[in-house]
Amino acid sequence: MYPQDRLADWHSGQGHWAHIEPEKWNDWVWQLQNRLRSAEDIEKYIHLSEGEREGCMLAGNKLALAITPHFFNLIDGDDPEDPIRRQVIPRIEEMNVAPEERDDPLGEEHDMVAPGLVHRYPDRVLFLVTDRCASYCRYCTRSRLVSNAKGYDFHAEFAQALAYIREHEEVRDVLLSGGDPLLLADRKLDYLLGELRKIEHVEFIRIGSRIPVFLPQRVTPALCDIFKKHGPIFLSIHVNHPRECTRELRDACERLSFAGVVIGNQSVLLRGVNDEPETMKSLVHRLLMMRVRPYYIYQGDLVAGSAHLRADVAKGIDIIRHLRGHTSGYAVPQYVIDAPGGGGKIPVNPEYVLAMNEKEVVLRNYEGRIYRYPRGANAESEIHAYDTCQCGGGECAGACDDLR
Ligand SMILES: *Cc1c(COP(=O)(O)O)cnc(C)c1O
Repeated sequence: MYPQDRLADWHSGQGHWAHIEPEKWNDWVWQLQNRLRSAEDIEKYIHLSEGEREGCMLAGNKLALAITPHFFNLIDGDDPEDPIRRQVIPRIEEMNVAPEERDDPLGEEHDMVAPGLVHRYPDRVLFLVTDRCASYCRYCTRSRLVSNAKGYDFHAEFAQALAYIREHEEVRDVLLSGGDPLLLADRKLDYLLGELRKIEHVEFIRIGSRIPVFLPQRVTPALCDIFKKHGPIFLSIHVNHPRECTRELRDACERLSFAGVVIGNQSVLLRGVNDEPETMKSLVHRLLMMRVRPYYIYQGDLVAGSAHLRADVAKGIDIIRHLRGHTSGYAVPQYVIDAPGGGGKIPVNPEYVLAMNEKEVVLRNYEGRIYRYPRGANAESEIHAYDTCQCGGGECAGACDDLR
C-alpha cells in the first residue's frame, strides 16, 4: 500500500493556492487569516457530502471549523473517506452522543488546581495556556473548551498557574498544552518559558502542539531561538497519517531539532485514518526520518460526538503487535488508554509475558514463539506471579499447566 517511503515523494507545495505569492504562502499569519472556516469556503475546492455540509453548519455550536490552507492541500478531494479529510471536516455524526461519551472524558475539570492548570500525576502538571488552535481536530479531547464554541469562556491565568507551580516543589515537569501553545505570540512564550526556567524544582519543560503539522510556517527562526534560549525543551507533535509528513513539516522539525528541541509524536488511533498496521508503520518510519521519535498512540477518548472516529482497542493492540520486533524499536510508540474519568494513561500491550512463577517466566516473542527464562537464585518471591496464564487458551503450548 505504501511504496517505499522516499523523502522525494512527500507531498508539499501550494496546491490549490499555486497563484499566491510564496512570501504570503510562507507567512503563518497569512495561513491563519486564510483558513477555511465554512462549507462555502471548502466547496470552492472540493465537493462535500450532505452529511459533511450539515456538520459544517452545526460546528459553530460544538467545535469551530478551521483548516489551514497548508493542511487542506493534503486532502484528496476525490476520496470521500480521505484520512486527512476525516480529521478536520465536520460530519453530522458529531451530533450523535453515545451514552458512554462525555464533554470532559478525562475528568480534567476535577483535577484543575488553577484556571488552566491540571495536576493529576504526582510530579507533573498540564498547563492549558490557550483555547485556540490553527485547525480543529474533530475528535478533540478538549472540545468542551477549545475554540469556545460551547461558551466555556476559557481563560488561562498565567500568574495563578505560575504561583501554584512555584509553591509546589513536587512539580518537576510542566507540560504546556491547550489549545495550541505555539499560537501564542513569541513574546508570551518567551515570558512563560522564562518564568518556568526560573523555578528551580522545574526540571523538565515540554510542549504539546500540532502547529508544525497544521502550520509549519509558524516554526520561524525567531521561535526556534526562544526554544534554544530556554532549552532543553521537549515537544510532542501530533501526526496521525503518513501523508501529513510533508517536506514543510520535515523542514520545521529540522529547524526545531537544530535549535536543540527534542521531538516526539503522539497519534490518536482513528477509524479510517490510521487503524491499519501498514498505515501506522509507514507513519512511524517517516517520523524517524524527520528526527521525531514516536511517543504515544492514544486510544480515542470518549469525547461527545466522536464515536464515528474511534477505532476498536483490538486494532490498537494489533498495530503494536505488527510493529514490535518487526521494525526498529525506536519506531514503536506506547499504546495507551487515558482512563475515563481521570485515571491517567494506562499502557495497553499485546501479551508477551504468558505466565510466571517462582522458577521461570514464559514469554512469547514477536513471531509467536514461546521462550522460557529461568528466574534462578535471584527470584524475589514478593514479585508477583500470575495466578492464571495470560495465553488465553492453548497458545503457550501447555507452559501454563506446567507452572500451576
Ligand atoms: C498526559 C498527561 C500528562 C503527561 O503524561 P506523560 O505520560 O508523562 O507524558 C500529565 N498530566 C496530565 C493531566 C495528562 O493528561
